[in-house]
Amino acid sequence: METTKTPTGRHLVEARHNRNVSLQQAAKDTGTPAGLLEAFEGSQLNGSAVPAYAQEALERYAGYLGIGNERAPAERGIVEAVGVRRSYRTEEITVNALDRVTLSIGKGELVAVMGPSGCGKTTLLNTLSGLDSIDEGEIFIAGEPLHAMSDARRTDYRAHFMGFIFQSFNLMPVLSAVENVELPLLVGGTGVKKARDRALEVLEGVRLADRAHHRPNQLSGGQQQRVAIARALVNQPAIVWADEPTGNLDSDTSREVLDLILDLNKNNGQTFVIVTHDPGVGALANRIIKMRDGKILDASIDFAPSS
Ligand code: ADP
Ligand code: MG
Repeated sequence: METTKTPTGRHLVEARHNRNVSLQQAAKDTGTPAGLLEAFEGSQLNGSAVPAYAQEALERYAGYLGIGNERAPAERGIVEAVGVRRSYRTEEITVNALDRVTLSIGKGELVAVMGPSGCGKTTLLNTLSGLDSIDEGEIFIAGEPLHAMSDARRTDYRAHFMGFIFQSFNLMPVLSAVENVELPLLVGGTGVKKARDRALEVLEGVRLADRAHHRPNQLSGGQQQRVAIARALVNQPAIVWADEPTGNLDSDTSREVLDLILDLNKNNGQTFVIVTHDPGVGALANRIIKMRDGKILDASIDFAPSS
């Protein structure tokens, strides 16, 4: 199945700008004449636009920038964004919440997204997960173009491949811990008995088996967030998105929640993308994506080993 677009000159330029490298630096890093890279960036690269002798150099350059077709699907990032723009228009001003974001997240990585308030972290998470629309660019999840899907298909895709953890837990107050955790399964059509068994198993995994029948207001903040984590994981999603998961927790409880996330990432090979202000999270992550004013400042787009 063909899953990635051939990078156009524009993709190359955007990816290079996002990496913040000059043409000269890229030439040096890839061992390719700057003039040739410039020609790639100027062309449409629709197959015939690149002479055969230059194909290999083009592939190397695209690989260096983290885009293109040259990698086998299995090695491609589970999350890939190419030239993504998202702006919010109010009567008076337009805010470029995401400005030509290109990035790649490898399977099994634990990535922290950091940056000052208002720089676009939540927008990044919401667009990468398909909760929010984009104005330009494309996002691929496991090679599938997310924003080219119908709304129904995207919702279904999210339900099966993604889990979400929010700063404010977002638990249903009238439901017990186990009822909160089994809800996604019941919504997805799993039988009552099977859903209950699985929910209890996951609650045990976050060490809350003895609180299964407590309601959220009968649990501490840390316990509530562990219920929310159990709910995010009950479907065994490939990717878990977390927006400031420790933002409402004290430092001891944060540590406990982070240790749990780290364990899950190590043992289940799940990919975690965590927006955070917490330097503790940054220290535990495989990689930090730094943002400012809607742009990625600094993100290694090499793939971490997924073992
Ligand atoms: P962060 O999560 O890093 O604090 P956000 O992604 O929430 O930042 O917001 C990025 C920018 O987009 C901010 O300037 C914010 O004011 C603006 N923004 C976010 N959501 C909306 C919205 N629904 N309408 C208008 N502007 C928004
Ligand atoms: Mg935010």
